[in-house]
Amino acid sequence: MQKVGQPKLLLVIPCYNEEQVLPLTAPLFLEEIRVLTEKGKISGESGILFVDDGSRDGTWDVISSLARENAQISGIRLSRNRGHQNALLAGLMEARDICDISVSMDCDGQDDIGAAEAMVDAYLSGCDVVYGVRSARKKDSIFKRTTARGFYRLMNALGAETVYDHADYRLLSNRVLHELGGYREVNLFLRGMIPLIGFRSTCVPYERHERAAGKSKYPLRKMLSFAVEGITSLSTKPIRIVSALGFVTVILSIAAAIWAFVCHVTGKTVAGWSSVMVVMLLLGGVQLLSLGVIGEYVGKIYMESKGRPRFIISERTREEKE
Ligand code: UDP
Ligand code: MG
Repeated sequence: MQKVGQPKLLLVIPCYNEEQVLPLTAPLFLEEIRVLTEKGKISGESGILFVDDGSRDGTWDVISSLARENAQISGIRLSRNRGHQNALLAGLMEARDICDISVSMDCDGQDDIGAAEAMVDAYLSGCDVVYGVRSARKKDSIFKRTTARGFYRLMNALGAETVYDHADYRLLSNRVLHELGGYREVNLFLRGMIPLIGFRSTCVPYERHERAAGKSKYPLRKMLSFAVEGITSLSTKPIRIVSALGFVTVILSIAAAIWAFVCHVTGKTVAGWSSVMVVMLLLGGVQLLSLGVIGEYVGKIYMESKGRPRFIISERTREEKE
């Protein structure tokens, strides 16, 4: 479907303790919007929505002053730090009523803003979802590169289907944003949820840069918990694996029991406690592992059943203006 008229684009950008990086990257984002507007690809009302994810530094002051200086910039502030995914969702839900297309990206300049044009082009030629996909990872450390690759492999092997090398740099049309609003889960993993929504989609390659300033807020510990979050909130395959493991263990135990019985009858019993210990430890281990996996899902059900708000907005820059 060919789209008519120039769409109003909103860049949705979550920020957590980014006072150093925002003054550097905000002008680049504005410049790209200006260029796209001049080329007639997006409407002159396009702009940027910053989401302050409960930062402890001066991020909100930076956003407020940017918004005062430039009518194209607005911001919302969450009442506390809720993590990247929740902050991004807050921004997207805010954006769905005020834009035709959203492009979500990080504020640190790692997502190449130059790829936004190709995303808008893809939208104009009929796509509702455009995934930004990294063309190279030269700038990442070897450690980050290998852990990230392992992460995608593991995710797909465990049944959580995601687009390879795609993070949260993507274009979503207004109707996708509205459908996303219908996904009520508290355990958020947006890059796994968007493919579930469907609609026509495509990928646009971009080169991932180094952070313009400041430090990464995603250490290994957070990456691992993000991986567990992703797998358990998208797939029940781990539970199946545990069941399969249990089934195989039971079969093996029956075989072992028959063997023990035969030994007993033929009088070849050896009084060895080591074999008993091994079996006990093995079974104990399998049981604990299984309980852990099941516990992970029970925990998820617990959080979902509470149905708590996924974010709380405490301030808006636009209210100041009006
Ligand atoms: N971020 C956030 N809340 C958090 C952690 C991070 O909104 O609790 C934002 C952060 O400001 C940045 C984006 O999420 O815009 C990605 O974070 P970061 O650059 O630290 O992660 P990395 O690129 O190193 O994976
Ligand atoms: Mg980053």
